[in-house]
Amino acid sequence: MPVAFLDLKAQYESIRAEVQEALRQVFESGAFAGGPFVARFETEFARFCGCSHAVGVGNGTDALWGALVAFGIGPGDEVITAPNTFIATAEAISRCGAKPVFVDIDESTYNMDPTLLERAITPRTRAVIPVHLFGQMADMDPIMEIARRRGLVVVEDASQAHGAEYKGRAAGSIGDAGCFSFYPGKNLGAYGEAGAVVTNNAQVAKRIMMLRDHGQSRKHSHATVGWNARMDGIQGAVLSVKLRHLPAWTQARRRHAWRYGALFAGVEGVIAPSEAPYGRHVYHVYALRVQDRDALTSVLEKAGIGYGIHYPVPVHLQEAYRDLGLSPGSYGVAERCAREYLSLPMFPELGDDQVAEVADVVRGFMRAKAKGG
Ligand SMILES: *Cc1c(COP(=O)(O)O)cnc(C)c1O
Repeated sequence: MPVAFLDLKAQYESIRAEVQEALRQVFESGAFAGGPFVARFETEFARFCGCSHAVGVGNGTDALWGALVAFGIGPGDEVITAPNTFIATAEAISRCGAKPVFVDIDESTYNMDPTLLERAITPRTRAVIPVHLFGQMADMDPIMEIARRRGLVVVEDASQAHGAEYKGRAAGSIGDAGCFSFYPGKNLGAYGEAGAVVTNNAQVAKRIMMLRDHGQSRKHSHATVGWNARMDGIQGAVLSVKLRHLPAWTQARRRHAWRYGALFAGVEGVIAPSEAPYGRHVYHVYALRVQDRDALTSVLEKAGIGYGIHYPVPVHLQEAYRDLGLSPGSYGVAERCAREYLSLPMFPELGDDQVAEVADVVRGFMRAKAKGG
């Protein structure tokens, strides 16, 4: 039986009536751009993250851009992040006029290695963006300690980590701001594009509210050059519905990850994801590491099993960032992982039988490979 990599329709079917009622309310109120449905979601999402403010924006890239601009980051500044992220993290830095600088990752969590952070800091460094990749948080205590000592702003890229925790604290709530994407395939996904910034800094929240709305401080008064980065009302209403289900969906993801982990235990040639003792992984992506990825992906294709690769080319080796002059070998761990990552089907509605089937195909491939040498 084929197994999809992601099945958004299955989720929609489980909440159809609630979503349709929410949409009806938006259509009848006419509150399409910003407005009360966005404001209600902001209140709910701030509470979910344990922060005093949430500002809804157009997408996750807007969230990162808005947060950086609100902290005054601009041309001439450097911002440190990880090279194995979705390119949006670096793009937001570039869009502010700043320069992305990378530090390599920890091989067990796939997140920024805090022991490498300090040596990447220069007199131009203004901020650090730890990315909570695949749903597991970066090791925030040492990152915050270094950032505080060196006077750097910390903006968490929590786009893959809705509801993840670090020592009991929610993703997005530890740095000076936390940025989320609600792209449809994310753990909390809109029915379109959306994003948000959470923060405990009222001044910063206010600035992002201005930036997202053409720099308006009040009607017809534009205090700064902003952008159109508003969240739309439909997305606010849909996200309010889906947020109520997120804890159960996260539990389901964690259960699937646990089952996969049990099935891959002791299988030679497979490195399954591990949960750091400090945190709670929300498994946005369930990425294995394997040596013979191309051969395995063709076996998965033949079996009708969906897969993904997150991400095959690290940001510093993308053509868009050729000007940084970073050659292969610059970030050895991130580059090696990029050659080995293979993401398996992972979404709340996945059945236990489907998890078993996917694991069976992978195990069969590994066993044949071990025999064949
Ligand atoms: C999805 C994602 C983004 C960008 O979000 P958009 O909503 O697509 O703009 C940024 N960073 C990471 C790590 C992401 O996964």
